Amino acid sequence: MSEQKQTQRHVVIVGAGMAGVQTAVALREQGFEGPVTLIGAEPHQPYDRPPLSKAVLLGKAEHSAFDVDFESLGVDLRLGLDVTGLRPADHELVTEEGRFPYDVLVIATGAHPLTLPGTEGVPGVHLLRTLDDAVRLGPVLADRSSVVVVGAGWIGAEFATAAREAGCAVTVVEAAALPLAGALPAEVATAMAGWYAESGAELLTHARVDTVRPGAVALADGRELPADAVVVGIGARPATGWLDGSGIALDPSGAVTADDRLRTSLPDVYAVGDCASFPSARYGERLLVHHWDNALQGPRTVAADILDAAPAPYDPVPYFWSEQFGRFVQYAGHHEGADTLVRRGDPAGASWSVLWLRAGVPVALLAVGRPRDLAQGRRLIEAGTPLDPVRAADPAVPLKSAVLQEP
Ligand SMILES: Cc1cc2nc3c(=O)[nH]c(=O)nc-3n(C[C@H](O)[C@H](O)[C@H](O)COP(=O)(O)OP(=O)(O)OC[C@H]3O[C@@H](n4cnc5c(N)ncnc54)[C@H](O)[C@@H]3O)c2cc1C
Repeated sequence: MSEQKQTQRHVVIVGAGMAGVQTAVALREQGFEGPVTLIGAEPHQPYDRPPLSKAVLLGKAEHSAFDVDFESLGVDLRLGLDVTGLRPADHELVTEEGRFPYDVLVIATGAHPLTLPGTEGVPGVHLLRTLDDAVRLGPVLADRSSVVVVGAGWIGAEFATAAREAGCAVTVVEAAALPLAGALPAEVATAMAGWYAESGAELLTHARVDTVRPGAVALADGRELPADAVVVGIGARPATGWLDGSGIALDPSGAVTADDRLRTSLPDVYAVGDCASFPSARYGERLLVHHWDNALQGPRTVAADILDAAPAPYDPVPYFWSEQFGRFVQYAGHHEGADTLVRRGDPAGASWSVLWLRAGVPVALLAVGRPRDLAQGRRLIEAGTPLDPVRAADPAVPLKSAVLQEP
């Protein structure tokens, strides 16, 4: 396609979260001059989610709207509009307001939080994904209510942190043996379990919820926990139900299976952010990343490919951070398949990190209050630089100085 024709195509982005907004921004930054429409189901000005479980929840910030002037970018923003279907043969979306044509479609519909079966409509049961969710939780914190948090994952830990800071009585119920059991190995997650008690929250592990009724949570072992409010943080699934019948390829988790340019199985259709998985040559498997940095980086590849700018394959070192129990936790990489765990510092202390190596090469790093380890480790992971595990285990040695020297 000629450059002229390329820049005249109408790009329609579905989902006005981080990935959708960044796709619009990246298209303009990279010189795309054609029409861009950004459609979002939520009625609010597009906003950032990480502050929802932090400053917004605690009332320290009223909102977290992106500082983007859509009008001056020439982006047609359609808010409060649910897209309900995709008809690729006609290059059309189905919306509540009728059919909507596109030349190029970018799917950026993010993820929906999982709900606890049987709790829909039960008063006092909350999720934490949207601005509306955070606003609904504001009074729970302001009233110093007693709260049961279901799930000791990232969201559960951040909510528990805010609720303790607000003075709520907090019990966290976790079905697994440790917090973050699905995300981190036991030797790392064990250190985190202690953070709950330290903050004054009670963590109940091996605890399964049986039923939730107004004012109480009943556990499968018969225990009954009083609760003014219940916050469910048990994970999220790609928001791709609206693609049913479109013929687009999805993986078993419901994520759109994109290729290494974030192109989908359908012509002229891309997918990016929490709703899409991509093949990682770096890690030798398909990755589905539900973190902010992925929703920032992926759009640059999508925009470059739309502009026929031959982007490099999308194969980032995944990165995220979490602020919990007064600690700044950062993770870079993907530790699946690692053969060596290197500890830097005492996990019982205020700052430490762990590094995962595969055949001597760093593949992932978790840092607690050690941002320099994270910054250096991330670069070493990106470059695939072999490390000396003995030097890397000394927290006094900067990671970049632990590079294996040629004999
Ligand atoms: C409370 C919270 C705290 C977080 N904190 C951190 C953190 O500290 N660090 C970190 O790395 N990550 C964090 N994350 C994760 C990060 O925010 C997400 O990875 C990121 O928001 C993903 O962006 P996205 O645009 O792909 O999806 P989303 O942000 O989910 O945006 C998708 C948008 O698409 C809209 N949409 C969905 N379906 C349709 C449809 N059919 N039609 C129209 N619109 C539709 C949705 O309404 C939504 O607004 C946090 C997430 C949450 C919820």
